[in-house]
Amino acid sequence: MTAPSPAPAPHAPSVDLGGRTALVTGAAGGIGRACALRLAAAGAKVRAVDRDARGLEALAEHADGLAGAVEPHVLDLTDLDAAELAAAGTDVLVNNAGLQLVRPIEQFPPEVFHTVLTVMLEAPFRLVRGALPHMYGQQWGRIVNVSSVHGLRASAYKSAYVAAKHGLEGLSKTAALEGAAHGVTSNCVNPGYVRTPLVEQQIADQARAHGIPEERVLTEVLLQDSAVKRLIEPEEVAEAVAYLCSPQASFVTGTSLVLDGGWTAH
Ligand code: NAD
Repeated sequence: MTAPSPAPAPHAPSVDLGGRTALVTGAAGGIGRACALRLAAAGAKVRAVDRDARGLEALAEHADGLAGAVEPHVLDLTDLDAAELAAAGTDVLVNNAGLQLVRPIEQFPPEVFHTVLTVMLEAPFRLVRGALPHMYGQQWGRIVNVSSVHGLRASAYKSAYVAAKHGLEGLSKTAALEGAAHGVTSNCVNPGYVRTPLVEQQIADQARAHGIPEERVLTEVLLQDSAVKRLIEPEEVAEAVAYLCSPQASFVTGTSLVLDGGWTAH
């Protein structure tokens, strides 16, 4: 049996990012899109980075009327120099873009391993590198790295993804230690399975492959280790990201905020 999804909060807890600039990578879809909208709702001017130009356009239209604004910035993060440049002058950095390939190690294409590590670990390093001079200059900054349960636990056949997320956890902690004296915090958020198009597609595929209803794929395959038997919504992840950007979270740094329905409690 799946758990009910939460009713939408009538009033999102107030996080005021008026006058702040935020950069969100992978903003055209899923979690990144929810983060961009949440930070714009908090008043931030959001630089929305993705290689998907049409997705960014749709996001910008959707953001019309929010307290802040969304500015599309089309960029492939494998261009590391461009990534570092794009981060200059931002007050908040959300490293979110990611990709996945599920394949045993002996069959895993080395070039895909390289791309996953580039987009999910090296690009965040370059974005942090590009963002820090401005953050240090004003003695305030927020870095939030969208990691995963796979930043803390491994799963078979996800070598590149698990390696990249474990590396991101290390980068995040190091940035926290270096940034503390400059008013800069750095943290990870670690969701379990999130209801994004990527995962919904996986559910449909698994249902076909196993010849079972989608409801059973959720509980028996994806949510096997989760105590709370439902997917987490992108907006719930975005709320955690917004909290980490708030003044109330100034003492929260170098840590990982796990949103996994009890998965890692095992
Ligand atoms: P998604 O595929 O919906 O979104 C990822 C975005 O990243 C896309 O818009 C894509 O265009 C962009 N992107 C990928 N490669 C890029 C590149 N080279 N340059 C620029 N943009 C690029 O995925 P999502 O589910 O929203 O995942 C977002 C983050 O959350 C990822 O880091 C993922 O690892 C993490 N995460 C997802 C889940 C989940 O269940 N969906 C769970 C835990 C963590």
